[in-house]
Amino acid sequence: MQVIEAIEALRQQRKKLPGTLGLVPTMGALHDGHLALVETARSENDSVLVTIFINPTQFAANEDLDRYPRDLPGDLRLLEQCGVDLVFTPTPEVMYPARYQTYVIVEDVAQGLEGKQRPEHFRGVATVVAKLFNLAQADCAYFGQKDAQQVVVIRRMAYDLNFPLEIKIHPTIREADGLAMSSRNRYLNADERKAAPVLYRALQVVGAAYRSGERQPKILLQKAHDTLRTEALAQVEYVALNDARTLERVESPTDTPLLLSMAVRFGGTRLIDNCLLPLEFNDYAGLTATLGAINT
Ligand code: AMP
Repeated sequence: MQVIEAIEALRQQRKKLPGTLGLVPTMGALHDGHLALVETARSENDSVLVTIFINPTQFAANEDLDRYPRDLPGDLRLLEQCGVDLVFTPTPEVMYPARYQTYVIVEDVAQGLEGKQRPEHFRGVATVVAKLFNLAQADCAYFGQKDAQQVVVIRRMAYDLNFPLEIKIHPTIREADGLAMSSRNRYLNADERKAAPVLYRALQVVGAAYRSGERQPKILLQKAHDTLRTEALAQVEYVALNDARTLERVESPTDTPLLLSMAVRFGGTRLIDNCLLPLEFNDYAGLTATLGAINT
């Protein structure tokens, strides 16, 4: 496994990789959620490139850029065990040298939900992912459903800008009690950690109501709020129901796949989680493939 910091070296080593290449972009502090993406990339490609870069342009000034967890030696050990070929660990100066001034803006799908709470976030995400796509020249890139809106934004960007690669989505990996794995979970104190699985419980309650035939968005959302309210430490930022493909807000009953998503604070830690409705829905490739159709 080679670890590379510079762009020229990455281009050279990339050229030497045989066959198809799978790309897994991350911000490091790797956990089993990340590793599931890496293992899938490993099983579906001849070569695998993982990037570790805490991208400053997707953090607002008041966010956790400075305290975001970092553990490069630990990350590299895990990636070596997964059989990764190349790890790209650029510094911010490598990705954004002096006088950098080019950004990628994805419009409608980046505006609600996380985009509303974090206005510059997806401009930073789309920009860094576009740069990584150009640098990696991969055949497939792997992203987690944990960041549901990111999935839609990247899929949209790849389609709109004609990036010649396939976007693959991996289901969310969870702890035994249902908490979605996240590098930010380590910020939680013991009481907050105990309370945090309420997000998963809320998703399950709504999923069960949907399964029994409930389609009224207001009632589905109410059930999520009722569940979240059972944990005193949970401060709800938003709970939302959107069309899973377009992210348009859903205000009346429909049978098209829905995205139920939420952001909840526990003390100073902000957690997000989501599920698709119906809960069994897992046709991520289908959602990507329909993009051409919903364009028109
Ligand atoms: P991050 O390092 O948080 O930027 O995440 C890197 C990639 O791993 C993104 O595509 C995330 O959506 C994905 N990811 C993070 N947590 C999970 C999880 N619990 N399950 C599946 N994928 C995840």
